[in-house]
Amino acid sequence: MRYISTRGEAPALGFEDVLLAGLASDGGLYVPESLPHFSVEEIRSWRGLPYSELAFNIMYPFVDDAIPADEFRTMLKETYQGFSHDAVAPLVQLDTNEWVMELFRGPTLAFKDFALQLLGRLLDYVLEKRKQHVVIMGATSGDTGSAAIEGCRHCEHVDIFILHPHERVSEVQRRQMTTVLGDNIHNIAVRGNFDDCQRMVKESFGDQSFLGGKTQLAAVNSINWARIMAQIVYYFQASLALGGPDRSLAFSVPTGNFGDIFAGYLAKKMGLPISQLVIATNRNDILHRFMSGNKYEQHQLEHTLSPSMDIMVSSNFERLLFDLHGRDGALVKDLLERAQKGPVSIEDYRWRHARKLFDSDAVDDKGTCDTIREIYERNEYLLDPHTAIGVRAARNCRRDASVPMVTLGTAHPAKFPDAIAEAGLSVKPQLPPHMADLFEREERCTVLDNDLSSVQAFIASHWKLA
Ligand SMILES: *Cc1c(COP(=O)(O)O)cnc(C)c1O
Repeated sequence: MRYISTRGEAPALGFEDVLLAGLASDGGLYVPESLPHFSVEEIRSWRGLPYSELAFNIMYPFVDDAIPADEFRTMLKETYQGFSHDAVAPLVQLDTNEWVMELFRGPTLAFKDFALQLLGRLLDYVLEKRKQHVVIMGATSGDTGSAAIEGCRHCEHVDIFILHPHERVSEVQRRQMTTVLGDNIHNIAVRGNFDDCQRMVKESFGDQSFLGGKTQLAAVNSINWARIMAQIVYYFQASLALGGPDRSLAFSVPTGNFGDIFAGYLAKKMGLPISQLVIATNRNDILHRFMSGNKYEQHQLEHTLSPSMDIMVSSNFERLLFDLHGRDGALVKDLLERAQKGPVSIEDYRWRHARKLFDSDAVDDKGTCDTIREIYERNEYLLDPHTAIGVRAARNCRRDASVPMVTLGTAHPAKFPDAIAEAGLSVKPQLPPHMADLFEREERCTVLDNDLSSVQAFIASHWKLA
C-alpha cells in the first residue's frame, strides 16, 4: 500500500515511513492511494470473530508487506487484550434502535486507546527493525497525552515527552499521565496554556537541531494515519453485532479533529452499509457551520464541558476535502492556504456532495447537561459529556427510525465528574478497578517555564541515550 499527500507535492510513502512521518513534507496529510473494498459476503463471513481477528482483516491491507501477517496478528491480540471487556467495544441499548458503543474500556478510558495502544507497538516494531530511536513530543489538554503515554510505556525505542498546561488539566487527567513511571516517560507541566504547549511542539518539529542529530521527533496526534486506520474497525464491529451487513446502520460521532468520524466515512467506502453519519460538535462548531452554510471560518476557542472537542480547526477535515476535490492536491493546498487568512467556501456541487455524506449538529453545555440528566433518569446510565453530545445530535439528526443509530461513546464518565455534577446529578461516577487507587499513586512531573529553550534543553538531556 502506498500513501499520498493531500497537498499533492510530497513523495508517496510506504506504511513504515508514514508511521514515522506525521505531517507530509508539503504540509499535507497522508492518505492511502486506494482503499480495500470488502463484499457483503466477505463481511458477513466475519460475524462472531474476536475483535482482534476482525481488526486484522480490516487493517492488514493497509499494512501489508511492512509487517508479516502472523506478527501483526499477535500485535493486535496483545493490544486488545488490554481492554477490560471481552467484546472490547460493547454495545449498550438506550431505546429501540438507539445504542451507545462503549469505546472507553481501554487502559485510559477514552477511545484514543484503540489507536494509541496499537501505535506504540507498531512504532517499536518498525524502529527495532531499522535500529532507530525516536522522541515523541506532544501537547495535550487531556486525553491524548494519557493515551499516548500508556501506549508507549513499554516501547524500547521511544522516549515520550508530553507537555500539558500547568494546573489546567483535570486531576484525573493529570494523574493518568504523571503516575506512569517508566524511564522513557516524561511529563512536562508548562507554566502557560495549551496553545503555548502546542506552539512549542510545532516549533520543535520545524527545527530539531536541539536534539543534536542523534534522534528524531515523531508525532502521535490524530494526523498520524495509523490512528485513523485502527478506528475503522469498530464501525464494522457495531454493524456485525446489529445485523449488518444485511441491514445498514447510522452513526453519531462526537467530533473534534475529525479523526474518528473520518474513519466511519472510510468504513462506508470500504463496503460497510452505513446510511447516515452524524458529525456531533460542541460550541466549537466549525464543522457544523461548514455543513450548514458552506462557510469554513475559524472562531475564537470556547471552553466547554467537553474539553476533548474544544478545537478551532479540525485537522483531519483536510482528508475529506481532498476527496471532495477529486483528490486534486493543488486545489486543497490553495483552499487551505486561503483558509489561513479568512473564511472560505467550496464549489456548490462539492458542498452538496458533502451534505449527502454527513449530517451535523452543534450542542451547547446546556444541551449536554440535559442529555446526561435525561438518559440517567430514564436508563440509569451515565454518559460522559462528549458521548452526551453524540446522543443529542443523533436524536436531532435522525432520518429513519427503523435504522439502528449507534453513538460512539468516546470517554468514561468518571473522567469528567464536573459535567455530571453540572447536570445536577448527585451520583459519583466510579473509576474502574484498575484505576481505583489513582489518587494514591506516586506522580512524576517536571514544571518548566513557558520558554522554548528550557523545554528543549530538558528534552535534549533526558532522552534515554542523551
Ligand atoms: C479526542 C476525543 C474526541 C474527538 O475525536 P476526534 O477524532 O478528534 O474527532 C471526542 N471525545 C473524546 C472523549 C476524545 O478524547
